[in-house]
Amino acid sequence: MSSTDDAPKLYEAREPVFPRRVKGPFRSLKWIIMAVTLGIYYLTPWIRFDRGPNLPDQAVLIDLANRRFFFFWIEIWPHEFYFIAGLLIMAGLGLFLFTSAAGRVWCGYACPQTVWTDLFILVERWVEGDRNARLRLHRQKKMDFRKLRLRLTKWFLWLVIGAATGGAWVFYFTDAPTLLVDLFTGQAHPLAYGTVIILTLTTFFFGGFAREQICIYACPWPRIQAAMMDEDTIVVGYRHWRGEPRGKARKQADSNVEMGDCIDCMACVNVCPVGIDIRDGQQLECITCALCIDACDEIMDKIGKPRGLIDYMALTDEAREMSGQEVKSIWKHIFRPRTILYTVLWAGVGIGLVVALFIRPDIDMTVAPERNPTFVVQSDGSIRNIYNVRLRNKHGDDRPFKISVTGDPSLSVQVEGAENQVVVVPADEMKIQRVYITAEAKSVPATSDRSDITIWVTDISNNDRAHTATVFNGRGQ
Ligand code: SF4
Ligand code: SF4
Repeated sequence: MSSTDDAPKLYEAREPVFPRRVKGPFRSLKWIIMAVTLGIYYLTPWIRFDRGPNLPDQAVLIDLANRRFFFFWIEIWPHEFYFIAGLLIMAGLGLFLFTSAAGRVWCGYACPQTVWTDLFILVERWVEGDRNARLRLHRQKKMDFRKLRLRLTKWFLWLVIGAATGGAWVFYFTDAPTLLVDLFTGQAHPLAYGTVIILTLTTFFFGGFAREQICIYACPWPRIQAAMMDEDTIVVGYRHWRGEPRGKARKQADSNVEMGDCIDCMACVNVCPVGIDIRDGQQLECITCALCIDACDEIMDKIGKPRGLIDYMALTDEAREMSGQEVKSIWKHIFRPRTILYTVLWAGVGIGLVVALFIRPDIDMTVAPERNPTFVVQSDGSIRNIYNVRLRNKHGDDRPFKISVTGDPSLSVQVEGAENQVVVVPADEMKIQRVYITAEAKSVPATSDRSDITIWVTDISNNDRAHTATVFNGRGQ
């Protein structure tokens, strides 16, 4: 019987990954995407956009207090949440499209976890050195002054990035310059401080320590993405037929066996941010960042072999290459029924949203008839129904709205607290107005049951109109 020490471990401790610096087109592309995405995230709250005197001048603002979302000239009200839902559907379809065409490109290039981890590794490399120096420091058990200094410097810089990340997030929810001053003078809302602290710590932990473990263990996307991929999807792969049998350069020189192009230098493994060996085949951990392609191409250049031992390729490509068949063009891999369907759906939702955006009215109304009671018989025999009319003025100035009714000429309208049925709705606000509609006693027989009526709202300043159909309840109810 085996001893306790020989028993298999239930938990394998994580081996930290120290990716080596690499140069190449894919690494350059990742730098560019990192700069653009981080630039958008950190700078967007500082962009100003003049909407007039009564509206905020922050170009992108989630105004929770007034329940609005501002995006440059677009203003989304709570009842227009379908725009947000539409954008989320488009984001989901876009993710499906890119995954089915080119695997986990989102994970490899643009996912916030990847981008911030890349930034944190950049700082780590800048402070502690490249892979070998970091490995030596990690293996050094003794915490001497140098190790302590390097660690504290790195953690401090990570915390600064974390604080900037948390700070940028709260700026999206209120006027950024005002909040910045409030944060530093202790006048900001406790919620703002709490959010900044939580996001600082989560960024510090996720980008600095958890890193690839979030992608491998916490994120559900790697499990789901397989449903969007097939043998035509372009992924990062290793050309076994070209690389094997692999061997060190010296072994290759000494060997009588015809060796493959892979010199087993481990460069592709050493640059991998998730610490895998792509030569073992497709793995769930691979985020398709292509850094191993850059690393291997560099080696191939040095040993005078053609590039592309590791490459972006479809799973069908290698089999075709091995059998001498012509490899499909990249466009045939990308444009196939599945990706075309995703593109059509994505474009359909996008066009629908744009059309809805341009045809939506600047005034808006909803009508809620009072149900208890549905009507009141007054002392003179007339019948009155009460309605709560919700008026939205989406303009940047106050507007006079006239309320009227059509559908039964015997009905008269009174608007609570208003003369001539005109109410002023302040700029960019919503007002609930109580409206009384009355059928005179002599006309009551005509309205003894339910009458279909329409309540109209007219903006007197430009004659824009909105209407809502409802019913007038007579004695028959
Ligand atoms: S195997 Fe290559 S493409 Fe996959 S994560 Fe590692 S470096 Fe990136
Ligand atoms: S970088 Fe290229 S040559 Fe080096 S081990 Fe990886 S596949 Fe082989």
